[in-house]
Amino acid sequence: MDPRLRGDDIGKSNVTEPHNRHITIIGAGLAGAVLATLLVQRGWRVDVYEKRGDPRVQGYGGGRSINLALAERGRHALRLAGADESVMRHAVMMRGRMVHFLDGRTDLQRYGRDDSEVIWSVHRGELNVVLLDIAERAGVRLHFDRGLRDVDFDARIATFTDPRDGSAHQVAFESLVGADGAGSSLRAAMTKRTDLGERTELLGHSYKELEIPPAADGSFPIEPNALHIWPRGRYMCIALPNDERTFTVTLFLPNEGNPSFATIRNGADARALFERDFADALPLIPDLERDFEQNPTGLLATLYLDRWHFDDRAVLVGDAAHAMVPFHGQGMNCAFEDCVALAEHLDAQPDLASAYAAFQAERLPNARAIQAMALENYLEMRDRVDDDDYLLQRALERKLAERHPAHFVPRYSMVTFQRVPYATAYERGRQQRELLIELTRGHHSLDTLDWHAVDAAVHARLSPLSVDA
Ligand SMILES: Cc1cc2nc3c(=O)[nH]c(=O)nc-3n(C[C@H](O)[C@H](O)[C@H](O)COP(=O)(O)OP(=O)(O)OC[C@H]3O[C@@H](n4cnc5c(N)ncnc54)[C@H](O)[C@@H]3O)c2cc1C
Repeated sequence: MDPRLRGDDIGKSNVTEPHNRHITIIGAGLAGAVLATLLVQRGWRVDVYEKRGDPRVQGYGGGRSINLALAERGRHALRLAGADESVMRHAVMMRGRMVHFLDGRTDLQRYGRDDSEVIWSVHRGELNVVLLDIAERAGVRLHFDRGLRDVDFDARIATFTDPRDGSAHQVAFESLVGADGAGSSLRAAMTKRTDLGERTELLGHSYKELEIPPAADGSFPIEPNALHIWPRGRYMCIALPNDERTFTVTLFLPNEGNPSFATIRNGADARALFERDFADALPLIPDLERDFEQNPTGLLATLYLDRWHFDDRAVLVGDAAHAMVPFHGQGMNCAFEDCVALAEHLDAQPDLASAYAAFQAERLPNARAIQAMALENYLEMRDRVDDDDYLLQRALERKLAERHPAHFVPRYSMVTFQRVPYATAYERGRQQRELLIELTRGHHSLDTLDWHAVDAAVHARLSPLSVDA
C-alpha cells in the first residue's frame, strides 16, 4: 500500500449514512460551486473536492481567461443559487461590440434593443470566490488541495492527491459529478471503464492575454461599457473591462502562417504586430512585451463526447463534458445552465442513473449546438463585423426584430438574452440567416427593399418563437 495513502477520509462522506441523497462533486470552479449550492438547497448533502488551494485564503491561482462575459442563461442559474446580486456587484455592463477599424475609426454595434439586453464582464477569480462563499454558507462541504487521481468505481472509492505534500486521500462516494473542467480527471477515469466516444478538435488558433491598466487619473482608458474588438481577418484582439478599471486584452492568432504564434515569438515581434495592426491599442498596453513573454499561450479546442455518464456512478457537467471555443462567450453560461438542468433531473427522476440519462438527453444536443455556434462566431468576429454585406444583413435583422418581435429574434439574442434551448436557437438562426441573405441580395441599403414582400416572407417562413420551443 502507498505509505502516503491516508484512509482516514473514508467514512467522512455518506456511505455510513443511510440514504442516497449525497453527492460528491469534483472541482470547485464555476460549475462545481453553483451545482453544489443548487443541490444543497434541494436537500442534498454535498462534498466538493478541489485540486487547488482555497482562493479565499491564498488568492486566486489563475487558470483560463481572466474575465468572462456573463449572459442571461448564467444569470438565471445565479438567481436560483441566490448568487446573482453578489456577482453583479463586481460586473461591468457591455452594451455591444466596439469595433476598432484598421484606420482607427470605431463603431459601437449594440447587442440588443436597449440596456435590458446587454452582457456583463465578470472577473473569474472574484466570481469563483463569491460562489464559494455562497456554497459554503448554504451548507456545502468544501475540501481544497484535493486533486482527483483515481477512481475505483466498483468499490466506489475516489483517491485524491494533496499537491502540497503528494499525500493520497481516499474518499468513499455514492456518485461523482465531474465539474473539473476541460482536462477532467474524472472523465479520464470514466474512460478507463466505459467508452464515452471522446474526441477533441483543436481550432488551430491560440490566445494570449495582455493588460490595459487604468488611465493616469484612475479612470477607464477606453469606453468601459463595451466589448472591444479589433477584427483583422484571420486574427483579432478583444478587450473586456474589469471592475478595477483595467481591461483584459486577448490576442487570438493562428498557430501557423503569418502572422501566427509561430512568427510572433517574443515581445519585440508582438510590438511590431501591434504597431502595424492594432495601432490604437498599442499605447494602452504599456507592458506588452512582458505580458506577451510571461503569460501562457492558451490552446483552443472543442471537446465532443457521445456519453456524459457512467450508469449511476458518475456524470460530467460544464467543460468536462463539452469544452468549447470561447467566441460566443457561452462556456460558463452553458455550464451554469447544465447545473440547473442536472439539479432538476435529480429532483424529478426516481434514481441517479435515470436522472443522469435524462440530463444527458436534454443537454447533449444543446451543447453540440452552442459548440457549433461558438465556432461560427469566431469567423464572424474576426472577419465579418466590418464587412458591408454583413452590416446590411445586421441592419435588416434589427429592423425585422423591431417589426416582428414574436417571429424574428436575432440568433445572438436567442443565445444571449433568452433561454430558448441552444438547439432551437441554432436551427432558427439558420433559417433566419437564409432569409436575410435572400432579402438583401442585390441591395446596398435597406431603403430599396419592398417592405410588404419582406413582411410577408417573415410571416410565411418563421413561426412565432415560443420560449419553451
Ligand atoms: C479564453 C477564454 C475565454 C472565455 N470566455 C468566456 C466568456 O466570456 N463567457 C463564458 O460563458 N465562458 C467563457 N469561457 C469558458 C469558461 O471559461 C468555461 O466554460 C468555464 O470555466 C467552465 O466552467 P467549469 O466549472 O466547467 O470548469 P472550470 O472553470 O475549468 O473549473 C474546473 C475546476 O476543477 C478543478 N479541477 C481540475 N482538475 C481537478 C481534479 N483532478 N481534482 C479536483 N479538482 C480539479 C479546477 O482547479 C477548477 O477549479 C472562456 C474560456 C476561455 C479559455
